[in-house]
Amino acid sequence: MTAAGRVVALAGGVGGSKLADGLQVLLGDRLTVIVNTADDTERHGLLVSPDHDTVMYTLAGLANEEQGWGLRGETWATSAMLERLGEETWFRLGDQDLGVHIARTRLLRAGGRPTTVALHLQRSLGVTATILPMTDASVRTRVRTDHGWLDFQEYFVHRHQEPVVLELELAGIGTAHATPEVLAALDGADLIVIGPSNPLVSIGPILAVGGMREAIARARARGVTVVAVSGIIGGKAVRGPADRMLTSLGHDPSALGVARLYGDVASVFVLDRVDEALASAVASLGLRPVILDTLMADRAGRSRLAGEVLAAVG
Ligand code: GDP
Repeated sequence: MTAAGRVVALAGGVGGSKLADGLQVLLGDRLTVIVNTADDTERHGLLVSPDHDTVMYTLAGLANEEQGWGLRGETWATSAMLERLGEETWFRLGDQDLGVHIARTRLLRAGGRPTTVALHLQRSLGVTATILPMTDASVRTRVRTDHGWLDFQEYFVHRHQEPVVLELELAGIGTAHATPEVLAALDGADLIVIGPSNPLVSIGPILAVGGMREAIARARARGVTVVAVSGIIGGKAVRGPADRMLTSLGHDPSALGVARLYGDVASVFVLDRVDEALASAVASLGLRPVILDTLMADRAGRSRLAGEVLAAVG
């Protein structure tokens, strides 16, 4: 029974964190979120983990919801000084945020595993659920664009997602394996939810980690439902470049295009009401379509959608 069971959610930053927030309200510590770390980056000598931190700040109730990234009540004194000193500051990091990256980097340099360091940060900030990096290995998304090969954050933040993405590369993925914590979570899951995150650069890297698809397949073989929620509504991303990226990488920029990417991993696919006409095409992929209002306009919308997803597969 899902309502009493353990749920594992796969998530990137913005879309994934919103659904995770709704799930945490309903499930508390029965929720584990596996986050993408392929858009991690080094800034000012510090390791920054944007998707992990978006999920962590959101689940801790500290996120700047209007902005869509970073912390509420942030100040920028450190960044102003860095700029004065001639450092690159296009990747904006507030003072509180930098505190997290300083602690993370120190703990990693002292020999901590990325997973245990992440757990320490989450517990310190009062997160109830468990957030697990997809792997302890270093994986970095690179994008080939009409302006050449770029590191992901150079494309995403510095160049405002304007270059056209023609190819993706996950540097380091060949030797990246799912951690014991990730495997234990998937092996103990009663339900797996693929959040409405970018299927190519958020969920794609998670599924590409060694052992991940196998662990999800094992869960399915013991009867666990894998439900994916579309992050594309009416052919558009709610935020970010997912729709344009789907098109330029040869996929259909629609919920159906997303469903095709999950055809071999999920069993249920949640589409928005506006995409109801795509339901039969989704069903023909072997996915059970579920039609819901998938836009999470506010916090109430997050727990509403989370509750409806749980009810649809319960
Ligand atoms: P990123 O790593 O910060 O880019 O974040 P994600 O990959 O987690 O999220 C980007 C995706 O979230 C985009 O495809 C958005 O369309 C989707 N998204 C954002 N808000 C919502 C929402 O309220 N509902 C749905 N269904 N998708 C959303």
